Order: sequence, then C-alpha cells, then structure tokens
Amino acid sequence: MDILIVEDEPEIAKLIQMTLEREGFSCYWCRDGLAALQVFQKQQPDVILLDLMLPGLDGLEVCARIRQKPGAKDPYILMLTARGEEIDRVIGLSTGADDYLVKPFSPMELVARVRALLRRTLRHGGQHLTHNTQHFTVDVDQRTATRQLDSGASEPLDLTTLEFNLLATFVSQPGRVWSRTQLIDKLWGNDFFGDERVVDTHVARLRKKIEPDPANPTFVKTVIGVGYKFEDSAIS
Ligand code: CA
Repeated sequence: MDILIVEDEPEIAKLIQMTLEREGFSCYWCRDGLAALQVFQKQQPDVILLDLMLPGLDGLEVCARIRQKPGAKDPYILMLTARGEEIDRVIGLSTGADDYLVKPFSPMELVARVRALLRRTLRHGGQHLTHNTQHFTVDVDQRTATRQLDSGASEPLDLTTLEFNLLATFVSQPGRVWSRTQLIDKLWGNDFFGDERVVDTHVARLRKKIEPDPANPTFVKTVIGVGYKFEDSAIS
C-alpha cells in the first residue's frame, strides 16, 4: 500500500513517514500542492494524507483536483487540519475528503485511521454482490453504480469511494431508517473519531449526484430527529 504525504512542515512529515513505514507502508512525501498533484499522477497512491494549509494550492484545492481526475485508483484522502475553524471548513464544504485528522495526533491514532480507510474496501473483498432497485444498480464487487433514467436509459454514476459505500448501504435495504451512528458504523467501523455531522456532508454530496432535484430529494430522505432513509422499489 502506497501513501502520499503532503505536508509542508518537514518535522511533521518525517514523523508521519517514520510511523507509517514502521507499519509496512511505503510513503512518498511532497511539501506543496502542485508537487502533490504530479506525484499523485505518477505513483497512484492508495491513500493521501493531505495537509489543509499548504503553500500555493491548499489542501482543499488539491483534493478537488484529484477528485475531478482520480485516475486508475480513486485514492482515500485523509485531511490533516489544525484545531478550531479549519475543521468546520473541512466538514462544511463538500471537500471530497474521506476523513480528517486534527493535529496534533498520536502515531497510533494515525495508523488506526489509515487502517480504517483501507478496511473499507477490504470489507467488501471476495464477495460478488449486486443490489438492484427500480432506479439503481450497485455492483459492490466491481464497484460500479448506475442510475436508470425514466427514459429507460441508464447512466453510470461517478462516485467517490465513500459516496459509493453510502449508496451501496442505502440500496441494500430500501425503506430502512438509518441513524447517523449506524451509518458511521457501516462506513467507518469502530475507528471513527470525528463528528457525526460528517455523515450529512456525504449525504449532501451523494444527493447532488443521484437526485434529480437535490434540494427536494426523492431517494435519500431525511428522517427528522433520526437520520436518513432510502426510498426506491427493490428488485430481486
Ligand atoms: Ca501546513
């Protein structure tokens, strides 16, 4: 597993690199956003640890560009932020990051988070699972999702790893009400340290891609005081 570390402070970068290499990961390090995009294209890392505040292109911009052109591997992106205001920026905006970690963090916490990200794909490994509803087909094994349009045509959905997992979860049980905690459990497992609001961000991002009118969702409904419910007819 290859990890790209994008961090402008050499001391922090060195500590991260040492920690991860000790765990058997191979690491590349860049100190600014433009270099990160170049190394990303060349090395196709599995995970990117992306500092938010960088000289030149900041972490949000780097993240957005990678999500626009993910290449062969759509990498997991773990955003590194300082305390306070920055966290709200990361959660509040649809950044495309899969998770975030607040500095200062312990080496153990870092390793736990990286492993949790990687488990998200492994969790589905080996089983060929397809979920069909009236409007969606989600192939968990091939990791493809399509939406059937009312015209009868179908269009492939361009989803991030997290959006895909979220849609797969919803489509697997149409009509089920999910609390935020249950969704976190499903998507992040026990290694989630962050804020429940992160679920809302990813639901909003998913709605933009699957709902004809995201402001007035027909598939992913909000259940006030509880969480979310996916509504579509199941087809077996
Ligand atoms: Ca920085």
